[in-house]
Amino acid sequence: MVDFTLTDEQQDIRALAHEFAEREIRPKAWDYDRDSTFPRDVVEQAWELGLMNSHVPGEYGGPGLDYLTSCLIEEELGWGCSGIGTSLMCNGLAGAPVLLGGSDEVKRRYLGMLIEEPRLASFCLTEPDAGSDVSAMRTTAVRSGDKYVVNGTKCFITNGSHASWYAVYAKTDREAGHRGISAFVVPRDADGVTVDKKEDKLGQRASDTAMISFNDVEIPAGNLLGDENKGFKLAMMTLDRTRPGVAAMATGIAQAAFEYARDYSKERIQFGVPIAMHQAIQFMIADMSTKVEAARLLTWKSAALLDRGQRNTLASSHAKRFAADSAMEVAVDAVRVYGGYGFIKEYPVEKLMRDAKIMQLYEGTSQIQRLVIAREVLMPHRAEEPAAATA
Ligand SMILES: Cc1cc2nc3c(=O)[nH]c(=O)nc-3n(C[C@H](O)[C@H](O)[C@H](O)COP(=O)(O)OP(=O)(O)OC[C@H]3O[C@@H](n4cnc5c(N)ncnc54)[C@H](O)[C@@H]3O)c2cc1C
Repeated sequence: MVDFTLTDEQQDIRALAHEFAEREIRPKAWDYDRDSTFPRDVVEQAWELGLMNSHVPGEYGGPGLDYLTSCLIEEELGWGCSGIGTSLMCNGLAGAPVLLGGSDEVKRRYLGMLIEEPRLASFCLTEPDAGSDVSAMRTTAVRSGDKYVVNGTKCFITNGSHASWYAVYAKTDREAGHRGISAFVVPRDADGVTVDKKEDKLGQRASDTAMISFNDVEIPAGNLLGDENKGFKLAMMTLDRTRPGVAAMATGIAQAAFEYARDYSKERIQFGVPIAMHQAIQFMIADMSTKVEAARLLTWKSAALLDRGQRNTLASSHAKRFAADSAMEVAVDAVRVYGGYGFIKEYPVEKLMRDAKIMQLYEGTSQIQRLVIAREVLMPHRAEEPAAATA
């Protein structure tokens, strides 16, 4: 029998994350969005409370939470503000390839860094000419004795300006397409690492998104993650593990938009009655509620499979695609319920609409999720082969 009951520990962590989002994130979220302020203070508070680095195992000093529990945190942070939530959760994305492929020494050094202090790390896959098509990347890593020399430029890197280290994907065999990619840890303080540009964004404006260049950056050969030329597989395994978290954050945005719309519809009077009395509004609220519920269940399933050690590629793309598209739809409908006020910055829902858009884009666009889903359901025997996929 399927049991959706959360354990006492999961309920406590969820309540802690919700309270943190309500007390520390919400009061700042709209100001930080307006001014594009990086939430350094919230990072420090969340780190102090143990709401960051949830996947880092106990042996490396982390809380070693399971994926489902982490999703509960991510939904609540997304409910508070997904821009701030993205800043808090990006260590999970950068840390996943290290956990999957790093040597014990690399794990201890770089995951340990995140646990010892409120530091950040970034995941560097995307390039100006290589977004959905990762195999088009031009960044190279050339072996030279006991080092690799990295050259190239990565764009749209979350927390890029603030990271202490980067998980960087680079070609170690330029002629081999996706089979020539390897992953490395590059420390921020290595010579030749520069932050070139901070992006000015439509939504999630509190999160930092930067372009990072690597110019003849020398790193120890031991910073290779996994085997040489197996980086694409590592990236796909990473995204299987992080897409449930993105889906959870999208669910948090949808939940927030639904709550604002529900409450407003009971207060706003038109034609002598609260607009919630008009069936057209009721049906919109009903559909919003269903989408939130369905997004959450798909998210939990994709995380629960991981926790049971099962392959979750299909489930995580279902969850990410559906939750992201639902967040967008629910946020647009929340603006509709608010009418003209929905378009005004003094009211909360226009921010949610802008924030929701990125959920359909990063960690693989909704089109790319559909490609993955189609491959999984049409050609399950080829499911282990790579499809177009992105960060
Ligand atoms: C705010 C923000 C934060 C980000 N954070 C990170 C990060 O931390 N690390 C990182 O590496 N990247 C990050 N990204 C990059 C993000 O993952 C990419 O932007 C995304 O994968 C899409 O790539 P692209 O922008 O190059 O679009 P393109 O790949 O150029 O896509 C353009 C359009 O074509 C569609 N398309 C492309 N190929 C196909 C296809 N085969 N079939 C159907 N449709 C297709 C896409 O769905 C999209 O609609 C971030 C991006 C943003 C905006």
